[in-house]
Amino acid sequence: MNDAPHSDDGFALATDLVHGGTLRSQFGETSEALFLNSGFVYDTAEAAEARFKGEAPGYVYSRYANPTVSMLEERMCRIEGAEAARATASGMAAVHAALMCQLRAGDHLVASRALFGSCLYIVEDLLPRFGVATTIVDGSDLEAWRDAVRPETKVFFLETPTNPTLEVLDLKSICDIAREAGARVTVDNVFATPLGQRPLELGASVVVYSATKHIDGQGRCLGGIILGSEEFVTTELKDFYRHTGPSMSPFNAWVLLKGLETLPLRVERQVSTAARLAERLAGQPGVRRLVYPGRPDHPQHELAKRQMRNGGPMIGIEIEGGKEAAFRFANALRVIKISNNLGDAKSLITHPATTTHQRLTPEARGQLGIGDGLLRVSVGLEDPDDLERDLRRGLMALKGAS
Ligand SMILES: *Cc1c(COP(=O)(O)O)cnc(C)c1O
Repeated sequence: MNDAPHSDDGFALATDLVHGGTLRSQFGETSEALFLNSGFVYDTAEAAEARFKGEAPGYVYSRYANPTVSMLEERMCRIEGAEAARATASGMAAVHAALMCQLRAGDHLVASRALFGSCLYIVEDLLPRFGVATTIVDGSDLEAWRDAVRPETKVFFLETPTNPTLEVLDLKSICDIAREAGARVTVDNVFATPLGQRPLELGASVVVYSATKHIDGQGRCLGGIILGSEEFVTTELKDFYRHTGPSMSPFNAWVLLKGLETLPLRVERQVSTAARLAERLAGQPGVRRLVYPGRPDHPQHELAKRQMRNGGPMIGIEIEGGKEAAFRFANALRVIKISNNLGDAKSLITHPATTTHQRLTPEARGQLGIGDGLLRVSVGLEDPDDLERDLRRGLMALKGAS
């Protein structure tokens, strides 16, 4: 799929992920400094006044900005091709702030149905409480997006590939529909990873991440980030962010900066292992359906090739025999751990129908294509042979019982 992008300064992405945005202190430290402070001091009262007025550069309070957090924001801007960013305490803080700062009572939002569970809560339960009307559509149906538009539609919100069914939505076409409608698109880009898909290039206005996932990549901390144009950040996000306090801890920003240094190494390995495991598992007895956007039998494979740089690090496996068989498969694994998290160095498997999506009614799960036999695998950094053997262990457990 296409080549790795270069940032504006002409360096390749891997270089920017190591050096981009570094602010060295007077001590000349090699690794990024951890500024674990809440406030800042000023030489004079006049200096404080000037900084508060925005007439002199510098930091005033870590809820607004902090040097370690700024380094992360700048580095993320380079990989995303964004002009500005704000880092948040979690992925959900990013989604919440990104949507709330764009919307007010009387506005309308259109979202695709296949959203991360907590995102669905914001769209379906929270926004309507504040007078924002929302319409949920089948994200793969372009007519449905078009039909949902009203004069007061301000925001389209979606994620692709979707969780957990790995359906690929047509970002460029959806962005075109939004532009015609005078609305803006916000994309939750977690499942593609920042290296696999660049929504801003396809017409999106705002991109959000749960940095908890591949950006940390080692299961250590929560984090989120919102990226967009300088104008969006200055006129809509900045004050909302400053005064409502979703800010990221400098410690977490430091952990995530170190995560970014190894992001290409980790994600490339996870993607190549995922592609290989998908290949080996497809068509095996007991596997009803193997879902991987990088495989030609994926329903939106051509679209995935166009808008993604690779097939991604996630696999869906639909096991024959429903929940009982899926549990037997997961329980037989020794390397891959049962966990609802994803993006970790450790390979993780989850049964969405009884965990991440148990809140939904069976009908709602049916609409999303989440069957009782579906398992979602987040591929980690273990030896690919060990992972393949582990999945075969799962398949053997199915045979044992039939
Ligand atoms: C995990 C996740 C979130 C929420 O992120 P947190 O860091 O857990 O708050 C949002 N969207 C997607 C797609 C996710 O996978």
